[in-house]
Amino acid sequence: MQKDIATPVRTQEILKKYGFSFKKSLGQNFLIDPNILRNIVAHAELTKDSAAIEIGPGIGALTEHLARAAGKVVAFEIDQRLLPVLADTLSPYDNVEVVHSDILEADVKQIFADKLESYKDVMVVANLPYYVTTPILLKLLMDRLPIRGMVVMMQKEVADRITAKPGTKAYGSLSIAIQYYMKAEVAMIVPKAVFMPQPNVESAVIKLTRHEEPPVHVIDEDFLFKVSRGSFVQRRKTIINNLQSSLPNGKQKKELILQSLEKVGINPTRRGETLTIEEFGRLADELYPHFH
Ligand code: SAM
Repeated sequence: MQKDIATPVRTQEILKKYGFSFKKSLGQNFLIDPNILRNIVAHAELTKDSAAIEIGPGIGALTEHLARAAGKVVAFEIDQRLLPVLADTLSPYDNVEVVHSDILEADVKQIFADKLESYKDVMVVANLPYYVTTPILLKLLMDRLPIRGMVVMMQKEVADRITAKPGTKAYGSLSIAIQYYMKAEVAMIVPKAVFMPQPNVESAVIKLTRHEEPPVHVIDEDFLFKVSRGSFVQRRKTIINNLQSSLPNGKQKKELILQSLEKVGINPTRRGETLTIEEFGRLADELYPHFH
C-alpha cells in the first residue's frame, strides 16, 4: 500500500509534482500527521454504513482516511487547482466524490438527496478553512441537514466560543446557535506543527452531536437567535438595555420587554452571558407576540 498522503514526505512530493503553491486567502493549511487524522476519524465513529461530508479536501489527507472508514465520502473543494491533484491522490478509492464548489454556495440539501439518500448515518468531518469557519457551520446547521453530527478542526478561539457554558467570557450568540442544535465538546487541542504551512493561530477539533430533542422548544427558532444575538450586542450592558436597542422599536416597547422578562423570571439587570439556552427560549416565546 502507498504511504499516507499526510506523511510530510508524500505531501512534499505531491506539492512538487503539481507545482502547488498555498493560497492563504483560502485557508490552506494541510495536515501532515497521519496520527491526528486517525484521531479525527475515530471521533467521527464511522462504519461502512456511514457517509462523510468533507469541506475542503486539499490534497486528500483527511479524505483518504474517511474513504477507508466510511461507505461514501462527498468532499467540497473550492480551489480548481486541486481537482487534478485529488483525482490522482484519491484514485485508489472508489467511494469518494469531489464536488468543485464553494460550500457556502452549494445546494448541500440537493446533493444530500442525490448522493447520500441511501445513508442513514451521515457525519460532517473536516479540517475547515479558518476564514469561514462560522459561516460554514451556521449554513450546515440552518440547512437542517439530517446529519448525526460533525467532527471539525477550527481555530481554538472559535472552538472555545462554540463549546462555552453560560457565565463564561467565551459564551455568546454563537454558543447558543450551535448548542441549540448540537451537543458541543472539544475533542482535542492540536499543535501547529502538524500543519503545512503552520497557521498563525491555535487549533482545536470539536465534536458536535445532534440533540434528539432541542434543549428548549420555541415558537420560532430564528426569533430565538435574534433575541440571543441582540442580548450580546454590547456584552457589558444589561439584558434590558441590549434588548431595548436591538429589537425593532425596542425603546418604545420597553415596558413590554420588562414585563416579558419578569414573566419568565429573568432579572432585567442580568447580562446576556448569564442566560442559559432554556432561558433565552422562554424569553423569546414571551417576546414573540409583541414583535410579530
Ligand atoms: N483537508 C485538507 C487537510 O486537512 O490537509 C485541507 C484543509 S485546509 C485547512 C482547507 C481547505 O478548504 C483547502 O483545501 C481550501 O482550498 C478549501 N476551501 C477554502 N474555502 C472553501 C470553501 N468556501 N468551500 C470549499 N472549500 C474551501
